[in-house]
Amino acid sequence: MLSARVGGLAPSATLAVDAKAKALRAQGVDVVGFGAGEPDFPTPPAIVEAAVAACRDPRMHRYTPTAGLPELRAAIAAKTARDSGLAVEASQVLVTNGGKHAVANAFATLLGPGDEALLPAPYWTSYPELVRLAGAEPVPVFAGEERGFKVGVDDLEAARTARTKLVVFVSPSNPTGAVYTEEEIAAIGAWAVEHGIWVVTDEIYEHLVYGGASFHSLPVVVPEAASRCVVLNGVAKTYAMTGWRVGWMIGPPEVVAAATNLQSQETSNVANVSQAAALAAVSGDLEAVATMRAAFDRRRRAMHAHLSAMPGVTCLEPEGAFYAFPCLEGLLGRPLDGPGGRVATTTAELAELALEEARVAFVPGEAFGAPGYGRFSYALADADLEEGMRRFAALAGRLAS
Ligand code: GLU
Repeated sequence: MLSARVGGLAPSATLAVDAKAKALRAQGVDVVGFGAGEPDFPTPPAIVEAAVAACRDPRMHRYTPTAGLPELRAAIAAKTARDSGLAVEASQVLVTNGGKHAVANAFATLLGPGDEALLPAPYWTSYPELVRLAGAEPVPVFAGEERGFKVGVDDLEAARTARTKLVVFVSPSNPTGAVYTEEEIAAIGAWAVEHGIWVVTDEIYEHLVYGGASFHSLPVVVPEAASRCVVLNGVAKTYAMTGWRVGWMIGPPEVVAAATNLQSQETSNVANVSQAAALAAVSGDLEAVATMRAAFDRRRRAMHAHLSAMPGVTCLEPEGAFYAFPCLEGLLGRPLDGPGGRVATTTAELAELALEEARVAFVPGEAFGAPGYGRFSYALADADLEEGMRRFAALAGRLAS
C-alpha cells in the first residue's frame, strides 16, 4: 500500500521521545523530559508583538513569494554577515518551514540515486532518513567519546568513494555538543575542496558555545568551499522559537533557485506571521540568546557533573548546543536491584526502563548512530534538571549495585 520510500521511513526519535514525555505529563504523570532540544524560555516579547501586528496586516493574509518575504531574506543575509562573517546576497537565501525543512530541501536538491552522503556520527537523527528520502545513501563516519566525537580528514577520506557527493558538517554538534576548532574546520573544508565534494553545514547552534570554544562557519574559514556549500540555520534555538517553524538555507544561486522550485511545488511560502516574527528576531540584537546561553552554560556544568559522578556512566564535557551525550554502556546487561531484576541490554531498552522506572525521558544513542550512548538535553529549568538527574542517578545506582 505504501511507497517504498515513505513506507521505510523511521519516525523522528527526538520528536517521538518528546511527544511521549509531553503526553505522560498531560495525563498527570510527573516525567522529567531530557528528550527534545527545546529552549524552556518563551519567545522574546518584541518578536511576539511583530507577529501580532502581522496578523492584522492584510498583506500577510495572502500568498507571498515562495523563497520568503524579501525583507526577511535581506535581513537573513545581513544577520549572516554579522554573526558568521559570510557575505551573501538576499537572493541566495531560501526561507523554509524550520531548519529540518532546510535540511530536506538541501538533500533533495543536491542528492539522487547513486550518490553517497558522508554523515559524521553520532549524527542528528533526521539526516540519514532525509538522505534516503532523496534516493541517496547515507554513509556514517563514526568518532566516539575518546575522539571527542569529532571526525578528521583521515576518517572522511577512508569513507570517500567515487560516489561521494556531499559531507554533512555540524558544529556545534547535535547530539554530542562537540565544537570543532578553526584548524579542524580548515582541514575538512580543504579536503572537500580538493575532492570537489559539497558541504552541507548546519549552523543552527552557532550562538550556543561555552567556555573556551568558539563557533566558525566553514565557508568563512575556507572561502574556496563557498561555491559548493549550503549553510542551514533558523530562528528556533537562538530566539526560543521552535514552534514557529522558520529556518533557511543559503547556497549558490542555482542551488537556491532549484530548491525554491521544489518548495513552490511542495509548500509555497512559509506562514507569513511566522516570517514576520523571524524578521523581528534576526533584525534585533542578540540579548535574548546571551541570557539563555548563560543559563544553558550553568545547566551544562551541572549536568556534566551529575552524569560524570554516576556509576556506570562516563561523560565528555559538551562545549556547544544544549546536549550532553554520556556513554551508558556500564548500565547495560545489569539486573535492576540485583539478580533476577529487569535488564536493559541496549540503550534503547535503557531509555524505556528510565521512563518507566525513573520517569526520566532521554533519547537513546541508537537514534544518532551511536548505540551505547544517550542524549540528554539541558535546555530545561534548573529545578527539573536537578530532579531528573537525581532520578537517573538513583536508577544508575540500582543497576550498578
Ligand atoms: N533539534 C531538536 C532535537 O534534536 C529538534 C527536534 C526534531 O525536530 O527532531 O531535539
